[in-house]
Amino acid sequence: MHELSIVMNIFDIITEKVPDKKIRALKMAVGDISGVSVEALRFSFDIAKKGTALEDAELKIKRVKVSVRCRKCGAGAVLKDRFVLQCPECPSRDVEIVKGRELNIEYVEVND
Ligand SMILES: [Zn+2]
Repeated sequence: MHELSIVMNIFDIITEKVPDKKIRALKMAVGDISGVSVEALRFSFDIAKKGTALEDAELKIKRVKVSVRCRKCGAGAVLKDRFVLQCPECPSRDVEIVKGRELNIEYVEVND
């Protein structure tokens, strides 16, 4: 389960950026094709947080849908089916993924 190592990396980043603070909430953006399972992420978070500054933190997750931009006609859209990479306006499959791969920390809330 690679979500656990992802979570531990995130904890490292947070404790480096805001040392000696208790974290109240952590908000993450998770793309639909980030390769991360939100359920596994929550599970890993609950395991990893014990004894850390995030022990009492709430994990908030924002799902990011897959957006593409067509390299032929320039149209952009959110994909209805994340498994079908195709331009919404023309038959081209030459599309660039502009959103959906995110695995980012949006923000943390610290206790004063
Ligand atoms: Zn197109």
